[in-house]
Amino acid sequence: MSRNASAPNAAPLRRIIVIGAGAVGAATALNLRRKGFETTIIDAQAPGHGCSFGNAGAISPGSVAPIALPGMFQQVPKWLIDPLGPLFVRWRYLPRAAPWLMKWVAASRMAAVDRASEGLKPLVGTSFDEYENLLGASAFQTLFRRQGQLYVWESDKPSRSEAVGHQLRARHGVEFHWLRPEEIRQYEPGLAPIFARGLFLPNNGQTIQPLSLVEAIVEQYLTEGGTLERGSVADIQPHDDGTVTVQLEDGRSIDAAGAVLAAGAWSARIAKRLGVRIPLETERGYHVMLPHDAALVRRPIMHADRGFIVSPMSDGMRVAGTVEIAGVDAPPDYKRAQSLLHHARNMFPDLRGDESSVWMGCRPSLPDSIPVIGRCPTAPSVVFAFGHGHLGITGAAMTGRLVSEIINDEPTAIDIAPYRPERFTGG
Ligand SMILES: Cc1cc2nc3c(=O)[nH]c(=O)nc-3n(C[C@H](O)[C@H](O)[C@H](O)COP(=O)(O)OP(=O)(O)OC[C@H]3O[C@@H](n4cnc5c(N)ncnc54)[C@H](O)[C@@H]3O)c2cc1C
Repeated sequence: MSRNASAPNAAPLRRIIVIGAGAVGAATALNLRRKGFETTIIDAQAPGHGCSFGNAGAISPGSVAPIALPGMFQQVPKWLIDPLGPLFVRWRYLPRAAPWLMKWVAASRMAAVDRASEGLKPLVGTSFDEYENLLGASAFQTLFRRQGQLYVWESDKPSRSEAVGHQLRARHGVEFHWLRPEEIRQYEPGLAPIFARGLFLPNNGQTIQPLSLVEAIVEQYLTEGGTLERGSVADIQPHDDGTVTVQLEDGRSIDAAGAVLAAGAWSARIAKRLGVRIPLETERGYHVMLPHDAALVRRPIMHADRGFIVSPMSDGMRVAGTVEIAGVDAPPDYKRAQSLLHHARNMFPDLRGDESSVWMGCRPSLPDSIPVIGRCPTAPSVVFAFGHGHLGITGAAMTGRLVSEIINDEPTAIDIAPYRPERFTGG
């Protein structure tokens, strides 16, 4: 199926190339295959080895608040000087990140927050059902748990941004219950008695292993006749007849009727070659895996003051989170993963914390916390599907469905106007 770029273009009418085999690309490819498209996924790595590998696995239909919220920026100076804090900017990278950070600040205005929240709700609200449709009941039951999520705070006074988050949840009818300190430990007996406030979200939950989730989707896709190729995409060339040629770094090229750009934090580089500038930055995050400590935690627990999640995974306790602004190319700084271990020790008095392994991943983040899902403004045969930030595992299944509906020229399950790439490019 791959051939030299110099050969005549003979793209079959229904061949679609999906660039990226993370959660978003995998879900997209399976949906396309089910609509009868001849689909090929191309990824430089094995499926699920980008950001989809090491995240906290939280599935959060109730996450209707964007990251940038009013009042958040008063807290930023305090975070930046704390070496173990939830946000870190590598100073040498600051000049490159500054335009994105300014857009992030602008996105914290209430009007922008309301818009983002309207976009998030339908994208994440049915995520469990979307995954069950994609994988079938048996695989769904193996990979997912719907046991709720717990948010905990050591601080006893809510911040302004936190209050806005609660308002948004209430407005969108997200069910939640406040917990007193003694109730927190009824839900999670392994926790130290250090938390002043707790919030239980009964309709949230988790996947017990994000890598297995992506692998299961890809396996199903291959079973249903999709194909997968290893390679790094350098460019997409659109042609006048509406077809595209996907160019690989190794010189191969593939002709197709269309392409989906689902390359996570690396997508903006390819979009730029198509003449479209999307303000995609990476909020790098870390995890530490503790293989002997899974029994200490029953469900994902968000330490809301410090911005990380502790999840029981199939292979141990995973402590994952924090934001580091340093670009996609900088080497990891695993001191940040060690800081997660330090915080986990404070949270769980009985933590063994040994034989740990660490990981860094690049969240693909847009300033307004909602992805771009829609046709490329300069090349309509290319569909963008990236920028899911902190909610890519939660939002991948609905995204895949939407992209397949866009490509199949049919009405979409939800209104896709909030995700239009043109919100950044004008028009
Ligand atoms: C610490 C941490 C915790 C998180 N916790 C959660 C959570 O609890 N719940 C949640 O919903 N989300 C969470 N997230 C966010 C979530 O992990 C991401 O939003 C999601 O994985 C993004 O998926 P993706 O498919 O867009 O990108 P990726 O998984 O990064 O996939 C992109 C793929 O594209 C490939 N690629 C890139 N460039 C090219 C190229 N040129 N050619 C070919 N292939 C290419 C990469 O190899 C990669 O496999 C977390 C993230 C982090 C870092």
